[in-house]
Amino acid sequence: MSAVMQDGFGRQIDYLRMSVTDRCDFRCVYCMAENMTFLPRQQVLTLEELQRLATLFVGLGVRKIRLTGGEPLIRPGIVGLCRNIAALPGLRELVMTSNGSQLGRLARPLAEAGVKRMNISLDSLDGEKFRAITRNGDLDQVLNGIEAARGAGFERIKLNCVVMKGRNFDEVLGLVQYAIEQHIDISFIEEMPLGDVGRSRGETFCSSDEVRALIASRHRLLDSTENSGGPARYVRLERHPDTRIGFISPNSHNFCGSCNRVRMTVEGRLLLCLGQDDALDLRGLLRRYPLDDQPVINAVRQALLGKPLRHDFNPEGEVQILRFMSMSGG
Ligand code: SAM
Ligand code: SF4
Repeated sequence: MSAVMQDGFGRQIDYLRMSVTDRCDFRCVYCMAENMTFLPRQQVLTLEELQRLATLFVGLGVRKIRLTGGEPLIRPGIVGLCRNIAALPGLRELVMTSNGSQLGRLARPLAEAGVKRMNISLDSLDGEKFRAITRNGDLDQVLNGIEAARGAGFERIKLNCVVMKGRNFDEVLGLVQYAIEQHIDISFIEEMPLGDVGRSRGETFCSSDEVRALIASRHRLLDSTENSGGPARYVRLERHPDTRIGFISPNSHNFCGSCNRVRMTVEGRLLLCLGQDDALDLRGLLRRYPLDDQPVINAVRQALLGKPLRHDFNPEGEVQILRFMSMSGG
């Protein structure tokens, strides 16, 4: 019988999102503060520790791992880590979320290493707005990265766009058109109140319902029950069957009832819920028991029983979670 992990509410946990770095070459306005202090090296899990944890979680029943960050592609050794994790017996798929800046050179090695699907963030198709949102990103470099990813042999590519009023809401239709032309999927994400980014998020908050209504003014949408194993709800476009539109709505449509995942920060904190502070210090356990996985496994099973029922984001209110998305394995 294969292993299964369950939480205290009977939800089966088979999806792990691992942050491989808290660092990034961008400073997106919804994700980071302008001046960030990053973790000192000794607090960050080594590649060997990341590999050990991935192996241990697959042994416990995890079937899908997403590597994320920060920007995962600026972690030295990332391709080798992907190759080792993708080869774990029992893992169904290794996938990644990236800002696309390094994909021009890394898309093909990653696909060859066994990364099956790639999510790429793209919040604007206007170079100046793109730079304003990412604070220092280069749009052309990311578009080249998307093109390289399309030619690299991934099973699926999806764009991720965080929609903000006054910043990129007016670009939603253009981004949908771009996804149609590229024959790829696109998800629109509601901004989550993680970390103090130096402004009130309520001012720019845009609900998935508003984004959907805007897209429906141009395209006939067909509801879909498809599920990619994550929190997105999908629609299809009647006239463009290759492109699915996803909506990730942590504020307006709570998706906790079907939560199947846990996250790991690059410090080795196992976050039981993105919107709560409950966590288990795995780095301490790994370093205390370098040759014995059993105490780590026992602690994970025990911690899962305490996985919270749901998050309670309120984008209008005070910052509730002090950790930034880049620290959370977004
Ligand atoms: N650097 C990579 C990237 O940008 O795709 C991976 C890490 S990033 C933290 C993962 C995803 O989280 C991105 O799609 C990003 O747009 C999203 N994200 C970051 N901060 C967010 C926030 N406060 N609310 C909603 N989504 C956020
Ligand atoms: Fe970096 Fe991704 Fe956060 Fe943007 S969303 S600052 S690219 S980690």
